[in-house]
Amino acid sequence: MNTHMGSTGGCQCGQVRYRLSDAPKALYVCHCLHCQKQSSSAFGMSMWVHRDAVEFTSGKLSFWSTRGDSGAEKICAFCDTCGTRIYHATDDGMDILSIKAGSLDDSTWLRPTCHLWIKRKQAWLRVNPDHDTCYDTEPPSDEELMRQWTAARTQAGAKRAQCSDMSGKD
Ligand SMILES: [Zn+2]
Ligand SMILES: [Zn+2]
Repeated sequence: MNTHMGSTGGCQCGQVRYRLSDAPKALYVCHCLHCQKQSSSAFGMSMWVHRDAVEFTSGKLSFWSTRGDSGAEKICAFCDTCGTRIYHATDDGMDILSIKAGSLDDSTWLRPTCHLWIKRKQAWLRVNPDHDTCYDTEPPSDEELMRQWTAARTQAGAKRAQCSDMSGKD
């Protein structure tokens, strides 16, 4: 199973660079208006990685803070030169950085497990509720996001193992 340890990423101008030494804990899309504004686009994509597993290898980050709908302070880190948002962090004791997943060098493997704030989704965007868990607003807990991600990765791993078993029988 490819855990995507060792994935690298960075900002648009290339000065800020990072490397991940552990697999993501969750990956989801958020359609809330904060995320639309933050990304200057249709939605935000968040990939949770343990703080200790993110190594910044070059560049200078700047920080800005805001309060989410929960009232908790959210620290937003962005490239000092080009302004690309790199991660968000909340002081909730989880020690998780929410990496903005579009900053990865290789995004071909990304497959979010759920959509948050569907009620704010831009109308043109089609989401398949048979495939993806959709929440009107926030999910019931952070743990649920992590459970979904782990379950989806385990299923994908099991499917790949099955396929290679079958090809082994030919
Ligand atoms: Zn930059
Ligand atoms: Zn959001």
